[in-house]
Amino acid sequence: MTESPEDEHRRVAGILSPDLASEAARLDAADPLARHLSAFAEAPGVTAYLDGNSLGRPLADMPEKVAQFIRDDWGTRLIRSWDEQWMELPMRLGDRIASVALGAAAGQTVVADSTSVMLYKLIRAAVAARPGRDEIVIEAGNFPTDRFIAAGIAEEVGATLRWVEPDEITGVSVDDMRAVVGERTALVVLSHVDYRSGALADMASITAAAHDAGALMLWDLCHSVGVVPMQLDDWGVDLAVGCTYKYLNGGPGSPAFGYVRSELQDSIRQPIHGWWSAADIFAMGPEYAPVPGIRQLLSGTPPVMSMLGMQGMLDLIDEAGIGAVRAKSISLTDFAVRAYDELLAPLDVRLLSTRDAAGRGGHITIGHPSFQRVTQELWGQGVIPDFRFPDGIRLGLSPLSTSHEETLRGVVAVRDALLAGR
Ligand SMILES: *Cc1c(COP(=O)(O)O)cnc(C)c1O
Repeated sequence: MTESPEDEHRRVAGILSPDLASEAARLDAADPLARHLSAFAEAPGVTAYLDGNSLGRPLADMPEKVAQFIRDDWGTRLIRSWDEQWMELPMRLGDRIASVALGAAAGQTVVADSTSVMLYKLIRAAVAARPGRDEIVIEAGNFPTDRFIAAGIAEEVGATLRWVEPDEITGVSVDDMRAVVGERTALVVLSHVDYRSGALADMASITAAAHDAGALMLWDLCHSVGVVPMQLDDWGVDLAVGCTYKYLNGGPGSPAFGYVRSELQDSIRQPIHGWWSAADIFAMGPEYAPVPGIRQLLSGTPPVMSMLGMQGMLDLIDEAGIGAVRAKSISLTDFAVRAYDELLAPLDVRLLSTRDAAGRGGHITIGHPSFQRVTQELWGQGVIPDFRFPDGIRLGLSPLSTSHEETLRGVVAVRDALLAGR
């Protein structure tokens, strides 16, 4: 019998680092969530997928789910499906995300738009809700779309951006925040997990510091939703946005979600006044009047087909429990750091994430001047991390679809590509 590429990788990784290989096998054998690995679609030729933080894998039953949707919900029920289920889908799915992953009660979350558009709506609404205050606090290294959109709004309304410049590895601290917020701050916009370093911000304390200054707090949850538990309601978060195609596995371009704390819903007015946020969607009247409640965050017809993928993943996370998902995430990133220490640190690779698991989300980042070339070579071999300019590789370890063994295969492949290029 010929060896499969996966088995060959496993065997070679084991020979190259026997202690790490037996450690990976031991951790996988003890992993209470290991049974979920088989819920994901196979990817022929891929031996290590380490990019679940950018694009989560599809569940194995997606082809059947899509076929069923086309045959029944769309093909047979036709336009009746709007009344039967789709009109309420943005709110129903929002509530599902809230209960499974956000620590939030129903009626505060909707699924709609892209993260970028949802950011525009919420930042714009928040600034308008704090008249007399003309500064938006945002992290200098925040994801580009967050900074660009905040800058565009600042220009639009005559506000100023005030930058937080935190430690690149440990991320924004409460002290960083206290140093920049004040009586001019309308809104603070931060990422819960930094997309580069993976640094996890202290959401509760930072939100409290924003409130002490009289500002509103908006969290971008793109890199934390579905992998890091949170308590939006208990921690007093005002506004939040997040992606559904990363750890929620909604598929490329699946829509974002937006959260507005219930007490704020009467005072927050989002700026894109579409018919879906009107008091009576079918009145077709001469003027816009906003509907009360979270539906007001919608603008136009939701992308129903793009909302299929995340539903199975939400069920899976619910079944596993977000606390268990976080425990496995920590086990995977801890193990990746151990493999880094043994295999990559001797080759002058830098660790660009904190060693403190409590201060980290679901990925770790490593740096080396050769990583652009290395990433290209690895993709060709079916080992898939992602490259972040200028010289970082992110190892995104989506807990339900990634094993410790797969993680080791990835780190060994990085090491081998570095050695081969010397
Ligand atoms: C992935 C990500 C986005 C993506 O926004 P889109 O509108 O979906 O392209 C925005 N912000 C952060 C922090 C992200 O990680």
